[in-house]
Amino acid sequence: MSKKADYYDILGVDRNADPTTIKKAYRSMALKYHPDRNPGDAQAEESFKQAAEAYEVLSDPEKRQLYDRYGHDGLSNSGFQGFSGFSDIFSSFGDIFGDFFGGARNGPKKGRDLGLELVVDYVEAYTGSEAKVKVPRQEPCEACAGTGSKSKIVQLCPKCQGEGQVLQNMGFIRMATTCPQCRGTGEYPSDPCPSCGGRKTINTQREITVRIPAGVNTGARMRIKGEGGTGELGGPPGDLYVDIVVKHHEIFGRERNHVLYETKIDMVLASLGGDLEVPTVTGEKRLVKVPEGAQNGKLIRIPGLGFPSLGSSGSRGDLIVALSVTTPRNLTERQKELLEEFAAIEEEKKNESSLKGWTRKISDKVKKALHN
Ligand SMILES: [Zn+2]
Ligand SMILES: [Zn+2]
Repeated sequence: MSKKADYYDILGVDRNADPTTIKKAYRSMALKYHPDRNPGDAQAEESFKQAAEAYEVLSDPEKRQLYDRYGHDGLSNSGFQGFSGFSDIFSSFGDIFGDFFGGARNGPKKGRDLGLELVVDYVEAYTGSEAKVKVPRQEPCEACAGTGSKSKIVQLCPKCQGEGQVLQNMGFIRMATTCPQCRGTGEYPSDPCPSCGGRKTINTQREITVRIPAGVNTGARMRIKGEGGTGELGGPPGDLYVDIVVKHHEIFGRERNHVLYETKIDMVLASLGGDLEVPTVTGEKRLVKVPEGAQNGKLIRIPGLGFPSLGSSGSRGDLIVALSVTTPRNLTERQKELLEEFAAIEEEKKNESSLKGWTRKISDKVKKALHN
């Protein structure tokens, strides 16, 4: 069994120190070695645990007596085992840490979730992309090692003696209120750190890369685990939620996973049919066949040139080309002649077909008459 350090030595107090002195000493050490401001520092963690153990014993008259008489062995014989970890310490000292930090600090706490909006280009949403976003963060101030003081030494608040509370006379009663000088933290650096102004933390921005999956649309929300606010007392960090807004494209529209493209074609192409060149989202051109006699509003689909479906097995929407047929203007005399000729032929066709219809109707009547 390794030789354990003396509890009085750990807290740096006299063997006959009174409970207030012991509490004060512990408070000061706990603040100094608190895991919040010494993240990942194994030595601080060890000191923090030792101080907690020492305080646990010396603040309990029965245990203290046992320790004074028989030392560490006397305690272990009585069943005292110290602490196994932070959560153990925090559950045991919940009230004290509540005092220290203004309450609700009893155990590891998950960091806050953060949210931000990310505006994505239409083409990026089509092809998928990466974006760098800046996430606000609070990190322990490096200049003062998170103590808030230039000398890097935790200093108790002179107004409340580190209690975080002050007693106030309110008529007949005395009421404990949050200390106005330290706002309940129990600490007040006389030489505030110039980097953080004594706040112990600094607001920074972290740049992180967000992968934008191909096919995202406005309203999509992405969760990036662990990129939210920093956790407390060893708790996990929160998550970052990124809400996607896809920008409009100059020429393309979108309907679910379909890319929409509206284009004008002249009357001649619409009537005779033929090839039409259309742009695609990625830039290259495609030829589509306009069918003979295409009407205004006709849709032509090119399968597979739409957005990919999010999360599904490679299926994609279509590129839908909507035709808008235009009427020619500023015709020359010759063009007018041709159109008039065209109209005359149309007229003849109409008469011919109506004549056929008339003939058929008559013959039907004749047939009926013959049968009766
Ligand atoms: Zn105070
Ligand atoms: Zn600082």
